[in-house]
Amino acid sequence: MATMTKTARTPQIRQTQCFIGGQWVPSVSGKTFETINPATEEVIAQVAEGDAADVDLAVEAARNAFEQGPWSKMDARERGRLMHKLADLIEEEAEDLAQLETLDNGKPIRESKFGDVPLTIDCLRYYAGYADKIHGQTIPVRGNYFCYTRREPVGVAGQIIPWNFPMLMAAWKWGPALAAGCTIVMKPAEQTPLSCLRLARLAQKAGIPDGVINVVPGYGPTAGASIVKHPGVDKVAFTGEYKTAQIIMRDASQTLKRLTFELGGKSPNIIFADADLDAAAQGTHVGLYLNQGQCCCAGSRVFVQEKVHDKLVDKLVALNNARKVGDPFDPATEQGPQVDKAQFDKIMHYVGLGKSEGAKCLTGGERHGDRGFFIEPTLFDGVKDNMSIAKDEIFGPVLSVLKFKDVDEVVERGNNTFYGLAAAVWTRDIGKAHRLAKQLRAGTVWVNCYDVFDAAAPFGGFKMSGMGRELGEEGLKAYTESKTVTVSMD
Ligand code: ADP
Repeated sequence: MATMTKTARTPQIRQTQCFIGGQWVPSVSGKTFETINPATEEVIAQVAEGDAADVDLAVEAARNAFEQGPWSKMDARERGRLMHKLADLIEEEAEDLAQLETLDNGKPIRESKFGDVPLTIDCLRYYAGYADKIHGQTIPVRGNYFCYTRREPVGVAGQIIPWNFPMLMAAWKWGPALAAGCTIVMKPAEQTPLSCLRLARLAQKAGIPDGVINVVPGYGPTAGASIVKHPGVDKVAFTGEYKTAQIIMRDASQTLKRLTFELGGKSPNIIFADADLDAAAQGTHVGLYLNQGQCCCAGSRVFVQEKVHDKLVDKLVALNNARKVGDPFDPATEQGPQVDKAQFDKIMHYVGLGKSEGAKCLTGGERHGDRGFFIEPTLFDGVKDNMSIAKDEIFGPVLSVLKFKDVDEVVERGNNTFYGLAAAVWTRDIGKAHRLAKQLRAGTVWVNCYDVFDAAAPFGGFKMSGMGRELGEEGLKAYTESKTVTVSMD
């Protein structure tokens, strides 16, 4: 961090057009939209606004690259080599990419630089290693037949990503798709298109053939929906709200696309009296406030066992009071602005509901400053299960503390939500930890830690938090079709 200065805030913005078939092109309609710096509310750039016509062109390019182009004919090891090259180029431009992400999204530069960019590189390298290790099976069938399976690329992948980790979400989706041999039409979120477009330039520079990766910036109901409905797209991978996933599922039904969803959550974070309370408080703080609370797996329902409630809450309050909110380009800043006005308004609405429904606001609860979409780290105590702030995903820096007495009660209350993305347990009792890890209905359970991610560890949701898994081998499989080949040996 010592090498970062406060003035490093002017990344070059070169890519603002659609990237289709290896060309940078304006949208067919000529329309553009503004992307805004959430820290200052100023316009950063005008970006091409893609729609159905642009998606048509992108899908055509992706289909050609998949069916005729060099991608499908390329040997898998070479595919992996190009992915490694892309990761190397990202590493070379790491500083600039981190700044671009902070400018467009508002996240603190220390997180872009030490979180988003390295994780992006790691994910691409992890999947680069998989490119030539995608194996089928030999199957012992009855009769004189030789039977085997091949894992083949699913085809053209439509990928729709959110704004909370723009670059990293692109890598989570490009990594397995490229390794499997798929081609891509990606739509970045309208709030944060810039880093994805920059990655596309680097992909071209790395030698990934034209048409393999196409990026169409634009809005969800237009560009996004066009990808989902397009008959030339074989699979849609989406990260965002469950309500959008419901629309996507309906739109995709016409063509029966393969779907993977990574959606929201209202994750229970359970702290037992026998836990290391300093570690639990620290992990709980990060588990909610990281990325301005804009994490699908945020531990937004903090269940604290009665005996240690007051002690733990004091620790959480102290952490909030010390949290540095402000200019995201200041290396000391821990919390920047929310991504846009809509999110800011939604969060402040929930803060108002928390107060009016009778929870005790112990820290924050107000806007921070008078420019940019900053919100003070907010902590509600005395939260009851039926309050809006305990039920709905807020996606902001708002933590709710709920008291509990015993294990069975907290498991039941923790599971009492239609979400099931993540959960955490803090305890020194290893048996209890494993029992809860089994009983909690969530795709990820962290024990004595929070927000520990790895490209090798599958991530996704139970219930309405998702369908399928990203990362790891499961994430790769979601980009393949299994083909059974049976050969007579007579
Ligand atoms: P968020 O609240 O995090 O913005 P959304 O689900 O609205 O979550 O958005 C996530 C991504 O889905 C964005 O890229 C957005 O443009 C896109 N999107 C929104 N609506 C649709 C839709 N009807 N079809 C396809 N994509 C959509």
